[in-house]
Amino acid sequence: MTDDQELGITESKEHSTGEWYAEVVRKAGLANYGPEGMSGFIVTRPRGYALWEAIQDELDARFKATGVQNAYFPMLIPESYLEREKDVVEGFDPEVAWVTQGGYEELEERLAVRPTSESIIAPYLSRWIRSYRDLPMRVNQWCSVVRWEATETKPFFRTKEFLWQEGHTAHASEADAWSETTTRLDQYEAVYEDVLAIPVLRGKKPEHDKFPGADTTTTVEALMPDGKSVQGATSHYLGQSFAEAFDITFTDEDEDERVAHTTSWGISWRALGALIMTHSDDQGLVLPPAVAPEQVVIVPIWQDETKTEVLEYAEGIAADLREAGVRVELDDRDERNPGFKFNEWELNGVPVRIEVGPNEVDEGSVTLVHRPDGESAGEDRDGIVDAVEEHLETVYAKLYAAAEENLIGNVREASDRAELLGTIGRHGGYVQAPWCGDEACEAEVKEQIAAEIVLVPFEEGEDPRSSGGDTEPIHEGETCALCDDDAVETAYFAKSY
Ligand code: AMP
Repeated sequence: MTDDQELGITESKEHSTGEWYAEVVRKAGLANYGPEGMSGFIVTRPRGYALWEAIQDELDARFKATGVQNAYFPMLIPESYLEREKDVVEGFDPEVAWVTQGGYEELEERLAVRPTSESIIAPYLSRWIRSYRDLPMRVNQWCSVVRWEATETKPFFRTKEFLWQEGHTAHASEADAWSETTTRLDQYEAVYEDVLAIPVLRGKKPEHDKFPGADTTTTVEALMPDGKSVQGATSHYLGQSFAEAFDITFTDEDEDERVAHTTSWGISWRALGALIMTHSDDQGLVLPPAVAPEQVVIVPIWQDETKTEVLEYAEGIAADLREAGVRVELDDRDERNPGFKFNEWELNGVPVRIEVGPNEVDEGSVTLVHRPDGESAGEDRDGIVDAVEEHLETVYAKLYAAAEENLIGNVREASDRAELLGTIGRHGGYVQAPWCGDEACEAEVKEQIAAEIVLVPFEEGEDPRSSGGDTEPIHEGETCALCDDDAVETAYFAKSY
């Protein structure tokens, strides 16, 4: 038996989170590490890929409903293209993988394996956009990118090659481009909250941590149970820097030539890392119903003499659920006993288990068990579809409530250095503090406790852009928690993945 088939998680989520996470990823059949010599790469197995597809389906439908079309661009970018936007070169240079040879031939110009595709998409937007009638233009691609990460990698959370989508848009006005930026942030927030059952905080990144070349980087952040934050997705208002560098211009209604405003936005399979880390437990994976490859598993419990009737009963239930669109699996394997099956489906994270035996057949009932907490309930066979749908809703609500409790209980405040460092050190989570906006103050926190500013919050409708957003100090009379200067922003400090 290989260890992949060995059932049961041996590590503890609470006491050895890193090892536990790796064990769940492996034993639930989600991913393996890449080949030797390729540290930081992973192989995504069908059960892991199914989770990515579920996120992909949800987002793709939302994007298409809001004017986005999918396209595909080459994975290699000529160095001269990358160099056209200087911030991109500087920002990504340490992480770029290069192709220098094709077959036996040395290339005249080396080609970057895309770390992100602004530099190859923008020149085509430039070609395709002629007049204001072509705007807004929105393209998205689902692909992988490569970033030679220097920090420690972890399946899904941080890998050298990762799957993601990147949306790229061009607009006639600043207001339109900013509105696009927040529309995509809203969609990421909705998928985290409604689909993955993970509440998130929304905000912008501090100036020094923006996407290279961006005017403003907005982000959604999720808090993991171990007190570390995860950057869930980012949506960048790029201003006109890319449009100027790549000549994305259009003629307006008065026949004047104008420079467009662009955005880009992306979510990666880091969302799977957050999903696994947030809900799973010492029995294995726990999945919200919307992404679970199997939402319900039926485990029939029979003796030789009751096998036929129990199986027939179970098959009828499976057929009704399938017809109603529920993803259901009937585990009728002969060679495994019910206890083994329970454990295996728990490890795989199936949200609801239905048990049926001779008693249920006699009574015309079923027993349902919730994966997150083992709560069980009896239901009538007749109303099975409605009952299952309700139970799936309840499982989602339980997962969301637990994650929300963790988030709400772990946002604290600090007004001076000692309080800030001490609070993160003791509790993890987010610590909200007045900040002067200077990177040097963050650097000090980074050095001392390896925490950083993960976001500067903004409310819906508020405009926090670097250019032209709110510039008034929001902390009248308050000083930065780390120096004596006036505070201009409230920053959320946390350790992060
Ligand atoms: P960025 O282009 O840097 O704004 O990143 C876009 C999205 O990809 C964000 O949601 C990041 O959290 C995610 N991401 C960045 N680097 C990695 C990585 N090495 N592995 C997985 N996801 C990543």
